Amino acid sequence: MAAVGLSGGIPGQDRHDENTAAAASGEGKKHYYEQRIKNFEKYHERELKKREAAKAAADPVKITLPDGTIMPGIRNFTTPLEVASAISESLAKKCVVAKVDGVPWDLFRPLEADCALSLHNFGDEEGRETFWHSSAHLLGQALELEYGVDLTIGPALDEGYYYDCFMGERTLNTDDQMVIETRMRTSIKEAHEFQRVVVTRAEALEMFQENKFKIEIISGLPSSAVITVYRVGPMVDLCSGPHLPNLSHIKAVAVMACNRSFWRGDVKREGLQRVYAISFPDNKQLREYQHRIEEAKKRDHRLLGANQSLFFFHHLSPGSCFFLPRGARIHNALVQYIREKYWEYEYEEVISPNIYNFDLWHTSGHAEHYKVR
Ligand SMILES: [Zn+2]
Repeated sequence: MAAVGLSGGIPGQDRHDENTAAAASGEGKKHYYEQRIKNFEKYHERELKKREAAKAAADPVKITLPDGTIMPGIRNFTTPLEVASAISESLAKKCVVAKVDGVPWDLFRPLEADCALSLHNFGDEEGRETFWHSSAHLLGQALELEYGVDLTIGPALDEGYYYDCFMGERTLNTDDQMVIETRMRTSIKEAHEFQRVVVTRAEALEMFQENKFKIEIISGLPSSAVITVYRVGPMVDLCSGPHLPNLSHIKAVAVMACNRSFWRGDVKREGLQRVYAISFPDNKQLREYQHRIEEAKKRDHRLLGANQSLFFFHHLSPGSCFFLPRGARIHNALVQYIREKYWEYEYEEVISPNIYNFDLWHTSGHAEHYKVR
């Protein structure tokens, strides 16, 4: 694959560019998405048969809960959600993910052996991560349906999530944010379930044959990897999970930003569009989050510094400000304070560069955290 510059893909280099015009909507990729679903349904049928056979075999397993209670189950048949329902329906409704012997596990995935089981909701770190990661699939679904993109990766963040996608020369703007958000809300109302299948490497390569990014991910998996694919509504994605049982857990969603990014975080690779979003199990939490973001913006040091005539930024030095007299006094006072602390703690002063090559952040592993504007 040819390397691409800041302007994105090189016309005529591959099928993605040929598809760019048609991919202005999801129509251009319709045949591919439909084929992916057909394949998925075939493999899902295989999973259902395995589960039916497990039910007939009725091989018992012991499920140990955090309080020491042991509940009976059937190997490869009983799911964590069934265990939660047996305890109480209100518990089952609140749960978003399980942990089996400490490993995050779909609530709808059958248990495979005697195990320790814990159940988690949005109030837990594990629950939030699953909630937001599942929401990234909802976001990916909207991007596919609206723009016919090639999805790459869509992880959960400390707050919210993003999905990176390839859409040739097209870029996303604030109008697109509303379009994506509306599509996400529509899909939430449809309350699609998440479904999981285990596939062979050949099956995965066939299923994602028109998405070179997923092919690259699959090809890089170790030979011992168990490859899983999830479906939610019209979207089928390569993913290790776990996910919510269905989209009805998501009650509020907001698309926060669209930025440029690069495949593998490498400026020499394909230019991508990164869409950030957040979602919650109720509208109140979304409103509180948005209020917090607005308040934080008011306290943004870049805004305060300019308003108080402490410093200004100029495009000739975008990452380093020009201090005005009042800002310079504060700067010098801080430097003096730090120097006094050096002496107090018996450090010696060194002076390091203010500007580094971006390679440094690739080496440190921070490059992915910096937004490209
Ligand atoms: Zn996933």
